[in-house]
Amino acid sequence: MSIFTRAVQAWFACCHAIEWFMGLMVVANPGTFQVRVDGMIDHHLPSKSPQLSIPRTAVREERLVDFVGWLATCSQLPWSEIDHQLQIILPESARNQFGGCDTATISSDGRRFVDVTCDAGSPLDWLRTRSGKRESPAFARPVGEPMAVHEITGKIFPHYEVNGGTAHLVGCQLEDKPFVRLTFLEKNAERVQVNHAYIATDGSSVPSEIVEELGLDQVEPVPVTQRSLHPSQLDAMVNAGLSVENHSGDIVPMNGVEEPVVVTIIWVKYVLGQLQFTIGNESVAHAFEGWARTLQAAPYHCPVTNSHTFKLGQVDDGTIVAADEIDRCNRSGAHVLRSDLVTCNATGENVLAEFVKPCPVSDQPVLSEYFSTCRRCGEEVSLPVLQKEVCAACRSLGPVSNADPTIAVVLQKYPALARWRWWQLSQTRRVSIVQASGMVRKLLMVCDRQNQTITQISVGRRGSSRWTVVDRQDWSDFLDR
Ligand SMILES: [Zn+2]
Repeated sequence: MSIFTRAVQAWFACCHAIEWFMGLMVVANPGTFQVRVDGMIDHHLPSKSPQLSIPRTAVREERLVDFVGWLATCSQLPWSEIDHQLQIILPESARNQFGGCDTATISSDGRRFVDVTCDAGSPLDWLRTRSGKRESPAFARPVGEPMAVHEITGKIFPHYEVNGGTAHLVGCQLEDKPFVRLTFLEKNAERVQVNHAYIATDGSSVPSEIVEELGLDQVEPVPVTQRSLHPSQLDAMVNAGLSVENHSGDIVPMNGVEEPVVVTIIWVKYVLGQLQFTIGNESVAHAFEGWARTLQAAPYHCPVTNSHTFKLGQVDDGTIVAADEIDRCNRSGAHVLRSDLVTCNATGENVLAEFVKPCPVSDQPVLSEYFSTCRRCGEEVSLPVLQKEVCAACRSLGPVSNADPTIAVVLQKYPALARWRWWQLSQTRRVSIVQASGMVRKLLMVCDRQNQTITQISVGRRGSSRWTVVDRQDWSDFLDR
């Protein structure tokens, strides 16, 4: 908000009563001052006229003669353009205002009748008596707007793909929503400029890009319709339009014109509808809404996968989900959510979790049949961690001192082992693999990691890779003093 606008508001606040209307500030009986487009004060003279302030961005200009032609169309008066002048065929009822003439020609600038005088004044004044006043507004709709449900659904349906199922419309409603167009004249020495300002139902001015998107700038008259705004709502919108705050700092002068010369209600189609996607006995709903002119198919939000998609499919339990999130279990063939599948570390297959188990060495899921026994530690491990039948844990023993916590617990439990030296250790998810050496022999023990209880003992000669598993009955040779 510009400093100027702030100053104006402060001045109003000091001098005049302020009331709230539709949440917008309306100045009651303010003084008038004229403002140039650049926002400089020319002079201020007390008057009863309200200050009109419409954001420049919300104002669109139109040629006066085009606007007069439009008003003639609104009044269902046949007209044609001849040599840049509008010639109107007058209805019987109006001819007495024109001295009995059956046609009236309007000048190329739209400001006067040519060769005929109208009791009601200028062309604009005369046409205004027929339609477009605040109490009897003109009605219009955007040109080329979708008018029927099939025009809407025709744009939407092709976007959706339902694997093994169908999409159909369970409801679609076209509602007319009103915008109010206020038409002001800006007069100067050279010409009369027609300015349109567009007001939404909440009293806000409609930005220029929305005016274009909704086609508010290209409207055609519609006959007086049963769909009429309640006078109080129309009044509220017009008044709000007259007091729209200027957020940009630009102010368009209306040169003291208190009221819009023409008020037009533009009915714009708004769509509310719902699609249903059905596969087998299951179905899901997809609501849509928006302006008929700009409505585009929106992706379906899949609540199961929290994804947005135009492609739907069904998993084997019947749930309809985003098709891209469905995959097939390589083992069972079931169609399930991709997130329910795991990848076997041995084969790369995507399978349900029930077909795999974790490898105690790699911790990776592997199909159950891709496990084998390590000939050194005796553990069931997955094939990818085996080399020459020895698992990665047994191949990666590392030296530790006998003060290592794991070794210390083993020694505490089996004190006789203290005579062994050169400790080495490796661990899987389930067991510790402990190696120790003497002068000639070496010992390999597999201990449960939970309680450090030895579950296997093997013995070998130093310098040899061969190990012999010791019968449990002979463990006392190693574990007793
Ligand atoms: Zn092993």
